[in-house]
Amino acid sequence: MTGCGVLTFTDKGIYCPAGDFYIDPWRPVPRALITHAHADHARWGHGQYLATPRSLAVMRHRLGQITAQTADYGHVLRINDAEVSFHPAGHVPGSAQIRVSVAGQVWVASGDYKTENDGLSEAFEPLRCHSFITESTFGLPVFRWQPQPQIAQQILRWWADNAAVGKTSVLGAYALGKAQRLLHMLADGPGPGPVLCHAAVENTNACLRAAGVALPHSDVLTQECSAKTHPGALIIAPPGAIEASWTRRFVPTELALASGWMGLRGIRRRRAMATGFVVSDHADWPGLLQATKETGAENIYVTHGYTDIFTRYLSENGHSAQVVPTEFGTEDDDSTGPT
Ligand SMILES: [Zn+2]
Ligand SMILES: [Zn+2]
Repeated sequence: MTGCGVLTFTDKGIYCPAGDFYIDPWRPVPRALITHAHADHARWGHGQYLATPRSLAVMRHRLGQITAQTADYGHVLRINDAEVSFHPAGHVPGSAQIRVSVAGQVWVASGDYKTENDGLSEAFEPLRCHSFITESTFGLPVFRWQPQPQIAQQILRWWADNAAVGKTSVLGAYALGKAQRLLHMLADGPGPGPVLCHAAVENTNACLRAAGVALPHSDVLTQECSAKTHPGALIIAPPGAIEASWTRRFVPTELALASGWMGLRGIRRRRAMATGFVVSDHADWPGLLQATKETGAENIYVTHGYTDIFTRYLSENGHSAQVVPTEFGTEDDDSTGPT
């Protein structure tokens, strides 16, 4: 174990000795507090789960029968000798930072987060704490996201250009978070054609709608859908599902991928994609710096991503920062979800 205090880092995950619970553990434990429903944070096999109602709606769909309780944002719960509350992380609908207070010492485990308000996820809430556990998926100065309305314009233009020449637009996006954000960005106004969602996306949409998320209407991609029935369509599908046979019913197609990794030129070139849109549900470099600064934390623990570079930068700028090994993924999103 390293990092003595309110939260500690163990081989099963982030552990709170005073409360006897884990946060986003990667091995089965009796009691797990879950920041959000992505597969690398919400894993199968724990005795009891505690998560926000929206996270839980998706977790029940993905994990099946689980014993769980809900935690509303801002509501303080006592778990043994710890006080715990969940606060918006701005990452995906329902995502939370978990604040843990023991004898006046406050730690915040932020899970995955982004500081830009996407208009769909509950907006990131800056929290003051003594110790802050942060991700650094995009912890390099090169990552600076454009404002969302600008990206929406780029995608809308691409979709309209495709529709104008009789092409179907196929946009690869992860089933939880990115897909709904794109739907919110693109389907709210009069677009150049109908929006179809792959079943894996539409199932997640249904969970979130049932949990009160106001998503625009979308149709599910079925066997009957084709370029004839849905001319000029935009199809939102998980990246792993866009090489499948259904795409043949929509030829000619234009493919694009929406991911923060599209901000790296080499990666964009390596993917056999015609187009990449740089849109991420993680904080960019300025976002990470801003979030970290606003905590006022004395100690910063960096869990996943460009941990060494981000930690070195923080250390050189007067913070006490260290890398902690975890098993969280560094995909832009959830690569292990259903496709
Ligand atoms: Zn995530
Ligand atoms: Zn993650």
